[in-house]
Amino acid sequence: MVLSHGEREGFKLQPRFNVIWLFLMLIAGIFSLLYLWYVLFPGRADPEVFKYFTADQFSRAREYTTTLRLFFIGSFLIQAAVLGWLVFGGRAAGLSSWARELAGNSYIGGVLVLFLSVWMLQRLISLPFLLYGDYYWQHRWGFSTQTMGSWWIDYLKMAGIELVLTSLGVAVFFLILNRWPGTWWIVGASFLSVWLVIQSYIWPVAVAPLFNSFEPAKNQSLIEMVDALSSKAGVPVDKVLIMDASQRTTKANAYFAGLGKTKQIVLYDTLLEKYPMEQVEAVVAHEMAHWRQGHIVKGIALGIAGNFLLWGLLFLLIRLTVSIPWYMHYPPHTWIIVMLFFTLVSFSSSPLQNYFSRAMEREADLVAVQLTGNPAAAKNLHINLAAGNLSDLSPNYFIRWFSYSHPPVLERIETVNQAVSKQ
Ligand SMILES: [Zn+2]
Repeated sequence: MVLSHGEREGFKLQPRFNVIWLFLMLIAGIFSLLYLWYVLFPGRADPEVFKYFTADQFSRAREYTTTLRLFFIGSFLIQAAVLGWLVFGGRAAGLSSWARELAGNSYIGGVLVLFLSVWMLQRLISLPFLLYGDYYWQHRWGFSTQTMGSWWIDYLKMAGIELVLTSLGVAVFFLILNRWPGTWWIVGASFLSVWLVIQSYIWPVAVAPLFNSFEPAKNQSLIEMVDALSSKAGVPVDKVLIMDASQRTTKANAYFAGLGKTKQIVLYDTLLEKYPMEQVEAVVAHEMAHWRQGHIVKGIALGIAGNFLLWGLLFLLIRLTVSIPWYMHYPPHTWIIVMLFFTLVSFSSSPLQNYFSRAMEREADLVAVQLTGNPAAAKNLHINLAAGNLSDLSPNYFIRWFSYSHPPVLERIETVNQAVSKQ
């Protein structure tokens, strides 16, 4: 009984604020302020823009993207503030006791109750931003083709998948945390790394079809074009799929996904409807270039390295800010600390992630032009995509550095020019 009393007392443990937290919050705070500042005051357009676009196109794109950026930063700041208040405002430890009581004093039950409450709270905070940015704003600009009902079905399906997977992850996390108090971060990072590989493999066949239908390309000239590119690139491509993106949006896009047998290039039906074949060829060549340059594997490798780094830092942070008697389990509110950590770190590390992503996109653009030998089509594609999807035509330098996973349109055009001069 003495031990159980000790446990009860222990659950009131309050996380300490230390220099690592201060550093994480300071960095995220500075980045948020700069982001907000440059969204509100992005500066003038690069005059180069008006070689390819009209002044009207430029200002429409600015108007469209500014609101979305304000939503992004607003949602982040509220999420981080609420989590920070829970952790350091003295609420988190109390929530642990509450969750355990609600779960009839079961430890893992308490962990899951607490996780579920925090998850719902975070969903509630992000919902208005998502609903406005993803539904109303997209309708207002003529992009969304979805009804409110089908938007909600998507939302609930996605939330359901996330809930099931994350609950499992949380249960495993706490098992590992208590089983290996000194090395859980290595075990955890290894688990997540394996999951990253499995997920890349099964995502195109298990998750994507829940939201869209995918048809193999039937258009004969498209098939021939893909075959020709594929043999030129030395990349065997047996799956080019057309996705019914028009169910949701008028925007055009394409992506590649999967590993091994699930490898595939996916083209939006909106791309095929609106773009001439030589520009579709430029898109396929770009996706194929990702493939040929091994970008999926590089992405996974970077993800794994990042995983270990992140979990190591999390380990240090928990060791230094929560003191646990040796006989005790980590209290359920450790999860809120983990969430605050990942919220801050994923935000602050986005320049690094985007730096790698932009480098790969640039390389794919370069190789694509070499594959098609048609730089004019590549240029027109970049121009049409930017205009059609209302991309910011001249993003502020900080915004580009912080949040751009692809180079902005002028840089992509410049890459095409470089590819030409190299040939
Ligand atoms: Zn790409």
